[in-house]
Amino acid sequence: MIPMVNLKAQYAEIKHEIELGLAQTFDSCAFILGPNVTAFEQEVAAYLGVRHAIGVASGTDALHLALLAEGIGAGDEVITSAFTFIATAEAIKYVGATPVFVDIDPNTFNICPAAIANAITHKTKAIMPVHLFGQPADMTAITALCQQHNIKLIEDCAQSFGATINGQQTGALGDCAGFSFFPSKNLGAYGDGGLVVTHSDDTAETLKQLRNHGSKVRYYHDLVGYNSRLDEIQAIFLRAKLKRIDDYNQARRQVAHRYTTLLADLPLTPPVEDGLGTHVYHQYTLLSEHREVIMKALQAAEISSAVYYPVPLHQQAVFKETCQGLQLPVTEKIAQHCFSLPICPFLSEADIDKITSVIRHTLTHQVS
Ligand SMILES: *Cc1c(COP(=O)(O)O)cnc(C)c1O
Repeated sequence: MIPMVNLKAQYAEIKHEIELGLAQTFDSCAFILGPNVTAFEQEVAAYLGVRHAIGVASGTDALHLALLAEGIGAGDEVITSAFTFIATAEAIKYVGATPVFVDIDPNTFNICPAAIANAITHKTKAIMPVHLFGQPADMTAITALCQQHNIKLIEDCAQSFGATINGQQTGALGDCAGFSFFPSKNLGAYGDGGLVVTHSDDTAETLKQLRNHGSKVRYYHDLVGYNSRLDEIQAIFLRAKLKRIDDYNQARRQVAHRYTTLLADLPLTPPVEDGLGTHVYHQYTLLSEHREVIMKALQAAEISSAVYYPVPLHQQAVFKETCQGLQLPVTEKIAQHCFSLPICPFLSEADIDKITSVIRHTLTHQVS
């Protein structure tokens, strides 16, 4: 079976480095906020071009703590996309704010700046764009809206590690940004992990307290915090992969471009790069009227495929009441026709060719 992500091939390459790091950690027994977390935070801040990087327990926590640190709370509205993973909106709910879902661009599936502008009210306290599938959202337009209306910009970078726009990394453009190190993400740990980044010294101080029981000095607690620290052992894995992240993302782009070339003459819509930033292809997501037939044929040929996301957030049971009557026509249409193919830095050309020929065969012989 060709998996969506081949984590085994990646591990083989960094095994030695990881074994060394693990041995050192077991020798020292510094398991919580140890030297690897500190070193990773410095290395990742330098890579992203931000003043501060704070390791936390997951991407969901990263977004939650970012919203808290920016002072978003009850009665506030946060504008975001409904075409994303549930965690984006969960984080907004955790702080007592209301997610306001707006429609997306039909080509990039990223949040539409004109739709954001229409949704801004006196209650809007933040915009949370998601750089979906690894392609940066239109940050020039979104940043302008935030400045014009004096609202916070909190980026959901869970899928965009290493993507750049206007010469800057995603995550370096907002007041705060959250990253996820879920194993399948572009920079993935071997378990859960996340990161909040910010340029602000004050916000960074608050974030450090929030992730560690509201404490600056051990056993002195200034606010109600959480147990949400990046694990020391996960930091070992992340340091090894961070060194190679540009190669990984470049390899993903090559996989994507080979797919797009091989699928170019077929009646389906490959991902569109809008040219505003670099797409790091967390997912390779296409549109087809015949998604079900294609996915069935892939399955029969032992090739994985998946739908991200079959149900937009405003149509999820959890938001049914609050979103009653809300229509997001582009989001709804995309959710009905999108599907994603396997992608990772280690997908071979032979596998890409096999996958595309199954799709070609299906579209030429099985659908009319
Ligand atoms: C993965 C993801 C998250 C959550 O990250 P976890 O580390 O799984 O908590 C948030 N937002 C988006 C868009 C994601 O893809």
